[in-house]
Amino acid sequence: MKADVQKDIHSGDNHEDLVSHLYYLEGLENSDLAKKLAMSCNVEYAWPCHGKSGAYYNAAMYSGTATVLMERSGMSVWNDEFVGQDKEDIRNFLKTAGILEGEAKVYDLPLITGGSLKAPATGVWRPALEIRDQFRKGDKLGEVQDYFGETIATVTAPEDGFMLYQVKHLQVIKGHEMLTYGVLLG
Ligand SMILES: [Zn+2]
Repeated sequence: MKADVQKDIHSGDNHEDLVSHLYYLEGLENSDLAKKLAMSCNVEYAWPCHGKSGAYYNAAMYSGTATVLMERSGMSVWNDEFVGQDKEDIRNFLKTAGILEGEAKVYDLPLITGGSLKAPATGVWRPALEIRDQFRKGDKLGEVQDYFGETIATVTAPEDGFMLYQVKHLQVIKGHEMLTYGVLLG
């Protein structure tokens, strides 16, 4: 059995604060459908990706199933607002795929790319910004401190962008993902 479409619904990791967004894959036979499905979701940004990754939605695309990976909520927050938005998006996704009857809404999501930064040290993470905050190349994004408040490492922006998601609990571990920023395309 093979699915025609698939939607991967995430809510960030337990320790991440995030701006709602989604990923879809460009450059494949079913990418036009994947983009159409992406634009059925009422999130803040869409991130077109290229090439193979370890993600489930990515493997589905390479197996011929059009799919998107959506992120909404974060920090394990569960409330009626987020659940309602997810349900609304699922219905609209199914209409777009022709599975549910009715006219589908189309959203003109701004497209982004971006990058991720890993923790430069193990310690206490003190982010300088909140999600959605914009920054310029070289701006301070936060500090890793020791347990006495001494700075171990300062993290600066490698390019202009905005905070898409970041660790919001205290601890970061050297080499583990700490934040992902977005850069508007076009
Ligand atoms: Zn996720």
